Parts: sequence; structure tokens; C-alpha cells
Amino acid sequence: MTISENLKNFKKALPKDVTLVAVSKTKPVSDLMEAYHAGQRVFGENKIQEMEAKWQKMPEDIEWHMIGHVQRNKVKYMAPFVSLIHAVDSLKLLKEINKEALKNNRTIKCLLQIKIAEEESKFGMDEADAASLLASEAFKKLQNIKIVGLMGMATFTDDERQISEEFQKLKDVFEKFKIQDPRFKILSMGMSGDYKIAIEHGSNMVRVGSAIFGERNYE
Ligand SMILES: *Cc1c(COP(=O)(O)O)cnc(C)c1O
Repeated sequence: MTISENLKNFKKALPKDVTLVAVSKTKPVSDLMEAYHAGQRVFGENKIQEMEAKWQKMPEDIEWHMIGHVQRNKVKYMAPFVSLIHAVDSLKLLKEINKEALKNNRTIKCLLQIKIAEEESKFGMDEADAASLLASEAFKKLQNIKIVGLMGMATFTDDERQISEEFQKLKDVFEKFKIQDPRFKILSMGMSGDYKIAIEHGSNMVRVGSAIFGERNYE
């Protein structure tokens, strides 16, 4: 199937209140443009410079989401245009994003990444660290960032019960934080292999790559 057919089928199956981030990492601009012409406007990339290069070549009405781990020294390249940073995992990184947002006269929306998987390789904060970050004076001083929700990745496994438990854990943390801060609106969880389970557990933003663009040859 073509990218636009995949996209159409995917959109049909997706509940209305769930935002689709089309994860286009490693894919050429021609593939992204095919998705764009099929109506897709939200794209996710995991490398800042690759995202910047695509941003320069593509139409202006696209929302660019940084879904990968962020190196502080590269924040400046995306600060002028990025619309949501999904994987924020430290106050240090937030301070850098705030600084670059200020230079660009913007407020940049961010999600905190919470670690829910058992794999050591996945990034993210635990609930307690996230709570103390949100309560800190240093955080409250940052005027040019806005935390609008949480992001997480489940363990890469066939065990659906485990995936369910991990997504439910993230949903519970999200609801707790949301009571304290009504700006919490986005719960980013679910990828090609597990988005259905994520939506069952309250996800309202899924990050889907291979199910739309096909398998990737490299990461
Ligand atoms: C690559 C990636 C995705 C999409 O993965 P697929 O399995 O291709 O849907 C989602 N989220 C993050 C953080 C990724 O790096």
C-alpha cells in the first residue's frame, strides 16, 4: 500500500480526539510530501538536524514534533520552529529550551518523558523526580516553556498485559499531575505496534512511523 492509503486507513480507525504524529525519521522529503498531500500536518522526527533540514524544505503549515532524546547543544537548531518537544527528562534541558525559546521570542510546549518500560535503554524520569521538578522554584521561573503533558514508551515485548500495565501506569501519573495543573492536556503514548493498547489506556497522541511510511532501513 502507498503512504497515502496507509494514512487514510489509519485515520479512519483513529478516534477523533487522538492526534496522529506521523513519525517520518529517516524517510525522504518526497515521502513526507506524499503524507502532506494526503492531509497530514503533524510530523515527528527524532534527530534535530534532520528535522531542521526537512522543515526548511517543506510547507510552513506543518507542526514539527521532536520525539527523540534531546541533546542540549542542539536545542538552538529547532527553537525557531519546533511545536512540541516530547522527551524532556531534566530541569537542565528545560532551562536550555527556555533560553533558546526566549531568544526566538517564543513559548515552546514540552512533554515530560516518564520511564515506564523495564528496559534500561529507555530514557525518562520517574514520577517522583517529575513531581519535584514541577514543584521547584527553578522550574516556575521558566517563562518561555510550557509543560502540556507526558510522554512514555512501553517495553518492546509481545506481552500485551505488560504493555497495558505500563501504559496504565503512565495514565495514572498523568491524571495526578493534571489535577494540580490544568495545562496538562497531552498524553503521548503508542507507536505502530502498540497504539491500540495505548488508546485503550487514555492516550490522546500516538506517534506512528512504520505503519504509515513502511519499515525503516536504519535508525
Ligand atoms: C521511531 C519512534 C516512533 C515510531 O515508531 P514506529 O514503530 O515506527 O511506529 C515513536 N516514538 C518514538 C520516540 C520513536 O523514536
